[in-house]
Amino acid sequence: MSTPLRLSRSIVGQAEAEAVSRVIIEDGYLGMGSEVKRFEEDIAAFLGVPANHVITANTGTAALHLAVQAAVEPGREVLVQSLTFVASFQAISAAGAVPVACEVRPETCTIDLDDAARRLTDKTAAIMPVHYASNPAYLDDVYAFAQRHGLRVIEDAAHAFGCRHDGRLVGTFGDIACFSFDGIKNITSGEGGCIVTADQTVAQLCRDARLLSVA
Ligand SMILES: *Cc1c(COP(=O)(O)O)cnc(C)c1O
Repeated sequence: MSTPLRLSRSIVGQAEAEAVSRVIIEDGYLGMGSEVKRFEEDIAAFLGVPANHVITANTGTAALHLAVQAAVEPGREVLVQSLTFVASFQAISAAGAVPVACEVRPETCTIDLDDAARRLTDKTAAIMPVHYASNPAYLDDVYAFAQRHGLRVIEDAAHAFGCRHDGRLVGTFGDIACFSFDGIKNITSGEGGCIVTADQTVAQLCRDARLLSVA
């Protein structure tokens, strides 16, 4: 008889049940209330970045969508690795940009920058590395590549909350990092995501657009 192999299990229990209860019974506000503000402050404190670098969203996909919309003009191209969850591509398309699929390095499952270089055009505006299976390998090379070619970097860090590159926490350096707090990710809020960026123009655009859709 075969044993089913469970790939992931959300670690939630009494503390999370009490937090939900606090929102319903004490706070009474089901939108972006005090728990959301506290969550953003906790994320900022954990990462060691100012609180205004952190913008939460209802999913990781929404975080990526908001980030692409804020940083990339419609019709421009975004280099993105082919090995990822479909949300990376969906977020780019939803923002009116064009995803350009790139190969990955088989040993790390990170974007193959030689292949990405071959796919550069005069429309390329950004690169979206995916820290697949919590592995932000070669991230310095991605940033060097982006700098060489004048690209924004939007990290799909859905698998990488709490992960480090060269000792530094993902989201604390670089351009824009997007995390997911879906039930199978490193930490969970049931559904959720966030954008972390030092760029206050991008941060403000994301903050505005998450409330009311701004074209
Ligand atoms: C889960 C995931 C997302 C999207 O996150 P959701 O919170 O599920 O919307 C994006 N990219 C990758 C690589 C993911 O694994």
